[in-house]
Amino acid sequence: MADILDQQQSTATMNTVLDDMAKYNHEQVVFCQDNATGLKAIIAVHNTVCGPALGGTRMWNYATGAEALTDVLRLSRGMTYKNAISGLNLGGGKAVIIGNSRTDKNEALFRRFGKFVNSLSGKYITAEDVGISPQDMTWVNMETNHVAGLPGKSGDPSPVTAYGVYVGMKAAAKQQFGSDSLAGKKIAVQGVGHVGEYLVNHLSKEGAEVYISDIHEDTLKRVADTYKAKVVGLNDIYDLDMDIYAPCALGATVNDDTLNRLKCSIIAGAANNQLKQEEIQGKAVIEKGIMYVPDFMLNAGGVINCYAEVAGLTSEWAMAKAEEIYNTTNLILNRSSQENIPTYAIANKMAEERIEALGKVKLSF
Ligand code: NAD
Repeated sequence: MADILDQQQSTATMNTVLDDMAKYNHEQVVFCQDNATGLKAIIAVHNTVCGPALGGTRMWNYATGAEALTDVLRLSRGMTYKNAISGLNLGGGKAVIIGNSRTDKNEALFRRFGKFVNSLSGKYITAEDVGISPQDMTWVNMETNHVAGLPGKSGDPSPVTAYGVYVGMKAAAKQQFGSDSLAGKKIAVQGVGHVGEYLVNHLSKEGAEVYISDIHEDTLKRVADTYKAKVVGLNDIYDLDMDIYAPCALGATVNDDTLNRLKCSIIAGAANNQLKQEEIQGKAVIEKGIMYVPDFMLNAGGVINCYAEVAGLTSEWAMAKAEEIYNTTNLILNRSSQENIPTYAIANKMAEERIEALGKVKLSF
């Protein structure tokens, strides 16, 4: 009887997973389990039409396997769109390791994970994401070559990410203010970590009036002193009279509450998933006269840097490619006003158009 019940439960779970995969057309999900090392991980390959699926591995203490699955499915799909709109020959994938990144890391765990990545024979290429360091990736690399962002190779992607955000912000300024100069513009950078600090550097060099917030007082003070930036409170940032709001910390900071308070003309930052609900705030920003620059296009510098490593290209190539974000921003903003469609939807459409076009190439032999 117990066996029958177990079987019914397994069937229901499997149907749910397949339904979740079907919802956004994921190609493959690999569940990685190993009692000896304690590894519990999921690799999701969303789409490989444009090339092998590249996306980082996140280590997080998910409360349940279902929560981990939801996250990896959502993140891997995001990578497909980011890689496609950036013109990279990469598909979208992502991995999550269930565990505490402060206490559960060890060589065996990451090497076992590397073996799972290797079993996909290059269909999925991994890199760092939240909770994962370059050292962890060197362990993964002992078992597989399908890794990017290794120390001594393409290195920290943050400077390239920040540069892409900076040039995209300039393109938006040109359309909103008539000039792409950021001199004298009041810009609030939320979160001055890896990307945020490099962005503040570009902005202060150009003569912008920079405001910053961060949860770490020491970081805040150091960045404020170094770049002559003004500090603003964690919650006060949304009420600031500013030209540009640059979220560079967490996602979902553009929501119904903050949109009632934000007094900016442009939203352009590095954080992923800035709009809490794309379809709601993506339209609401237009009613408020705010130009929203789609995050997954604007922050693609990091994956561009990883691609340079995988494809054997130089760091100069990566910076030049990140500079194209200026033109892509223009394209999105122009199409958005011509077609009367919100910027987030145009960006999605542009990514889907490239995937559809390359799908025809794939089918032609
Ligand atoms: P990070 O962890 O180095 O920096 C984030 C900073 O935000 C930290 O200093 C943290 O203290 C601060 N912070 C956290 N909560 C905050 C809050 N409520 N208010 C203000 N500050 C807060 O991360 P990062 O690598 O700089 O990435 C920043 C964002 O950009 C993330 O959303 C990340 O997913 C995204 N992103 C990063 C890259 C990259 O190359 N690093 C690429 C693409 C996207």
